[in-house]
Amino acid sequence: MKQADLLKMTQEFGSPIYVYDSEKITNQYKRLTEAFKKVKHLRLHYAVKALSNVNILKLFNQLGSGLDTVSIQEVQLGLAAGVNPEKIIFTPNGVSMEELEKAVKLGVQINIDNLLILEQFGAKHPEVPVCIRINPHVMAGGNTNISVGHIDSKFGISIHQMPHVLRIVENTGMRINGIHMHTGSDILDIGVFLHAAEILFDVAKQFENLEFLDFGSGFKVPYHDNDIETNVEELGQKLSKRFNEFCKDYGKDLTLAFEPGKFLVSEAGLFLAKVNVVKQTTSTVFAQIDSGFNHLIRPMFYGSNHDIINISHPKRNKRFYSVVGYICETDTFANNKMISEISEGDILAFKNAGAYCFSMASNYNSRFRPAEVLWHKGKAQLIRQRETFEDLMRNQVEVEL
Ligand SMILES: *Cc1c(COP(=O)(O)O)cnc(C)c1O
Repeated sequence: MKQADLLKMTQEFGSPIYVYDSEKITNQYKRLTEAFKKVKHLRLHYAVKALSNVNILKLFNQLGSGLDTVSIQEVQLGLAAGVNPEKIIFTPNGVSMEELEKAVKLGVQINIDNLLILEQFGAKHPEVPVCIRINPHVMAGGNTNISVGHIDSKFGISIHQMPHVLRIVENTGMRINGIHMHTGSDILDIGVFLHAAEILFDVAKQFENLEFLDFGSGFKVPYHDNDIETNVEELGQKLSKRFNEFCKDYGKDLTLAFEPGKFLVSEAGLFLAKVNVVKQTTSTVFAQIDSGFNHLIRPMFYGSNHDIINISHPKRNKRFYSVVGYICETDTFANNKMISEISEGDILAFKNAGAYCFSMASNYNSRFRPAEVLWHKGKAQLIRQRETFEDLMRNQVEVEL
């Protein structure tokens, strides 16, 4: 996507907007599958929660991907996109039996992450194969907000509880067809990941009728120049080798599964917003855009960095800016950012806006959620309209007062 194309999109569809590049998504998908080409059966399940527009799900379906879903609504979105239920894995945590039973009716793969539900489910539906989510107690990355495999994490069944799992399986006659882990969102050290994989293999050995091993996600993508990223090629080479050895020992070619979200869509997305006000104060220069954490919450929520480019005037001299929003709340996107000199009305492009950006947007301050645009085969297509006042009123029930 050229800057001229992006500026044209803001003229056509207004601002702010999210723009996604289908080619980048496709290339990331191919890069990951290529890295694991030595594995006989590989399945990628795209994590729907990263970016859940139905057109994105359709694109993944065309690529041959399955889906990783964390709510029954995400399952329904996947089915609406035409994805075969057998290629959808349902990995909720802390949900009720009712929600699991709805998922069974829809024919998707169930993944259970606690003993209580495992026991109830096995007693009631021994014929339905189930995957179990383990907690390998491995610390991935340093950020406990996004690292979910450590000892205090609420996710998964502890590996120390496997004797109890085996007892439940025996007592209920249920079948475990997959073992799953998802250690977190920042795999920087392949050694740590391979260590967690060994723990998963150790658990897997104890189950006789497995079909797949799901290694979750945690692929890190660069968020600024010179940022570290997961070396998927190296991981692919090393894990594939170990996986193939495991299958030989196990006596069956299992499917190796992953469920990346961020890796597949983060870099494919840009968030475009317009500068309403440039405000010089005694300590900084604010660039105030027509947005806030109602549209893009990651910088305030996780402290994440999104590089920002002034696509209206990319060649001007750079200055330091504090980029903030227009909602009534401290909503700082970035401090001390070097950006080409900004004039009022300029369009700023935020990078890495494909994953966990639109999908976390809200209506705070009664603002509309942005439009979404897909750049596909050299054409910009609207894939979600900007909300309208009717959307804000839709579910409100007016009563006599
Ligand atoms: C969120 C999530 C993912 C995707 O994580 P990314 O860091 O976006 O790749 C995968 N699996 C499960 C179970 C998740 O909850």
